[in-house]
Amino acid sequence: MLILLFLIFHWYISLFFQTFFLHRYASHRMFKMNKFTEKICFFLTFISQGTSFLNPAAYALMHRDHHKYSDTVDDPHSPQSFTSKIKFNLKTFNEYRKYINKINASDIKSSDLPRWELIEKLSDSWITRISFAIIYTSVYIIYSPSFWYFLLLPIHFFMGPIHGFIVNWYGHKVGYRNFNLSDNSRNTLFIDFLMLGELYQNNHHKSPNNPDFSIKWFEVDFGYLILFFLKKLRIIK
Ligand SMILES: [Zn+2]
Ligand SMILES: [Zn+2]
Repeated sequence: MLILLFLIFHWYISLFFQTFFLHRYASHRMFKMNKFTEKICFFLTFISQGTSFLNPAAYALMHRDHHKYSDTVDDPHSPQSFTSKIKFNLKTFNEYRKYINKINASDIKSSDLPRWELIEKLSDSWITRISFAIIYTSVYIIYSPSFWYFLLLPIHFFMGPIHGFIVNWYGHKVGYRNFNLSDNSRNTLFIDFLMLGELYQNNHHKSPNNPDFSIKWFEVDFGYLILFFLKKLRIIK
């Protein structure tokens, strides 16, 4: 039971920072926060994604290109031409590394990208990734009621990319559409309890800068509800 709670906690905390910080803040600038809060969020994104931390600046540039070229050949992670999920993930990984090289090589000092050189270097090292993997494995060694639970460990190791995969694959292949857009974006679930609103891709591609991804009365964007709460607390503007 404790293991499942650990998995659920890790799933949602890591997902929250992906949708809140990497997607809605770094990529779309849907809200503002002061530099100190930004550093805290950067650090918490690193801690929560751990082994599979996704660099905010690279994520943002890649995601902006996803919107710009959605489901065309220039889209860095369109699933349209893929039937194999493995090949799709490899392509997305290679594209992501290109964006990492881009932000490291260049001159991209744009103030609208959150940067923190120390964490970026630290997070991208094998020592850090292995340390996080040891922490996850230790929790399993201590609390697993049976050996079979260890099969869940890869979900922890690849948490960030797994979330990305679910949104990119299912959000552009499976579900219904509220808007007939030129891309193939879909709303995968009627109530997105699984991905905190990220699976309303069709709504999001229609209005990329709208912080609320829900449109229809039955759709609930839990990510937006959290944003609303953080705004009330004046943590974000
Ligand atoms: Zn999309
Ligand atoms: Zn987006």
